[in-house]
Amino acid sequence: MSDHSKIAWTDATWNPIHGCSRVSEGCEHCYAEALSHRYGWTTTPWTAIHAAENVTFHPERVDQPLRWRTPRRIFVNSMSDLWHDQVSDEILDTIWAAMALASHHTFQLLTKRPERMQRYLSDPQTPVRIADRLLQVALSPNHIRLAALLQQTFPWPLPHVWLGISCETQRWATMRIPFLLNTPAAIRFLSCEPLLGPMDLSPWAQRTVARLHWVIVGAESGPHARPMEDAWIRPIRDTCQSHDIAFFFKQRATADGHKLIHPLLDGRLWEQYPAVSPTG
Ligand code: SF4
Repeated sequence: MSDHSKIAWTDATWNPIHGCSRVSEGCEHCYAEALSHRYGWTTTPWTAIHAAENVTFHPERVDQPLRWRTPRRIFVNSMSDLWHDQVSDEILDTIWAAMALASHHTFQLLTKRPERMQRYLSDPQTPVRIADRLLQVALSPNHIRLAALLQQTFPWPLPHVWLGISCETQRWATMRIPFLLNTPAAIRFLSCEPLLGPMDLSPWAQRTVARLHWVIVGAESGPHARPMEDAWIRPIRDTCQSHDIAFFFKQRATADGHKLIHPLLDGRLWEQYPAVSPTG
């Protein structure tokens, strides 16, 4: 985990879960897997048959956001996928209890497994179980007081938790966005990174209830990075602008795969955030 992130749209990362297994084309050059092999945190490929050994829960990290006093945007599980089926509902309850108590932060969750996310968050028993777990993660008398208040009236969906899905192609956008739109969430967002082809978001952008609030676009970087074209980005940006959806153009890559952050598109930066962000 890191209190300072190089990811342009967040401030910090928090990894109570580490490890994952690949699900689609966007995973082909997964930076989390490459980094984990480089540092010896993992020894087998991130495939489904090795998932039980590669997906690990780190209970000692659960209270990290409760110790960070300054409000920040926190990308949850930059080195994993919270909704992996190796993560039990009990572990999810604990992680969500920590997020519920650390309400001074904004938590940003991103997944390629929105089916599990929808199932867990749409269950009416989920907020009840999370509320029951608050005292287990409380660190201070202030947390205990807040836990008691939350147990009386538990806000659901949590207003400071943003839910996102990764969609790298039109096919995956079509498969994953409906799950996101059918999940209770204060803020819903897409990360189209690595963007691997043209994408038309207009079928979903028009929604005004249970809507999309934010779209991030970025190119793949690193060795063997697959190219991205401006002609794919512009229609996404224009759809967002027409439907009051914040648009964030995160990165380009050079021909040899080097990352270029804060890129321009048509002569300007596009680093918008959803209007409700308490920190931006
Ligand atoms: S879902 Fe994300 S973390 Fe998991 S393998 Fe794919 S790119 Fe890596």
